[in-house]
Amino acid sequence: MPAPAIGDGSMAWVAEGVGWLRMPLQGPLGFINVWAIDDDDAWILVDCGLGDAATESAWLRAFAGPLSGRPVRTVLITHGHPDHFGKAGWLVRHTGARLRMTAGEHRGALRAIGDGAAEATRFYVAAGWDQPTIARWLDRLAGFHDLYLPLPPAFERIRADDALAMGGTPWHVIGCVGHSPEHAAFHCADRRVFIAGDQVLPRITASVGVWPGDEEGNPLRTWLDGLDAIEAAVPDDVLVLPSHGDPFHGLHTRVAEMRSGHHAMIARIAAALDRPRRAIDLFDPAFGKPIGPHRIGAATGEVVACLRWLAAEGRATCARDADGVDWWAVTAR
Ligand SMILES: [Zn+2]
Repeated sequence: MPAPAIGDGSMAWVAEGVGWLRMPLQGPLGFINVWAIDDDDAWILVDCGLGDAATESAWLRAFAGPLSGRPVRTVLITHGHPDHFGKAGWLVRHTGARLRMTAGEHRGALRAIGDGAAEATRFYVAAGWDQPTIARWLDRLAGFHDLYLPLPPAFERIRADDALAMGGTPWHVIGCVGHSPEHAAFHCADRRVFIAGDQVLPRITASVGVWPGDEEGNPLRTWLDGLDAIEAAVPDDVLVLPSHGDPFHGLHTRVAEMRSGHHAMIARIAAALDRPRRAIDLFDPAFGKPIGPHRIGAATGEVVACLRWLAAEGRATCARDADGVDWWAVTAR
């Protein structure tokens, strides 16, 4: 199936009544897929792209091209990360569409643009970062906020297990918590199509990590539960429409690969806890390669997620020292 060009507003039909567009992203991902569902006399758009000028010009060309002649009724969001949700505010103002998403994702996006400097500092000190690294990170965070603007004025809440009528057929909302607070994926049994968001990707696994301000969460547990829920609810013969990479068949095989990939990473980290370690001491066993400054936040969050998973299983313990640094070790048997 030929992919549409990135960022010029062109669209390819991938499934009955489902169009595929690609919005530009910098960095190794290169693009995010967004979907236009033919809803009889209107369009439903699933995800938006970043809140930047390149994405805006791609949408304007789509509205003058393949999407012309019909209004956009709904903008539906899988989750609140900036590449999915960033352009939502502009899109609903420009088209007059309503915005639909889960409340947890809306809250998460608002938190991401809030002032989290104190929480971030505490979290990254605990993980073992030094002060210059934290200062550089807080600087980068300020630029990150722009990717979300302008914020949308309001939204209508969707929930896991809802059935959304789109294009005359029901689409089942599948909740998968872990990559983000209340990620939604959409399964249409009639058309054998599964819009997977970032939960199931063809080649990479989206980051599953703990972020500053989350003192208790075990996102890896809920993310693995989300994979189980998908396997139980969505048959293997669907066409998977992921947010990054190409549409593919073979959902259950990919789910199994992603699950075993994470269990292997947990095992490598557990094996490295033969003496007390900080999160940053575990990059090597976790990733097998050095982590550069642009990846250090996600990498730290992913390692902490594995450590929390081990702690919840009773296999690791954490002691915070007088400087606020967390030292993790395997549980003595
Ligand atoms: Zn994401």
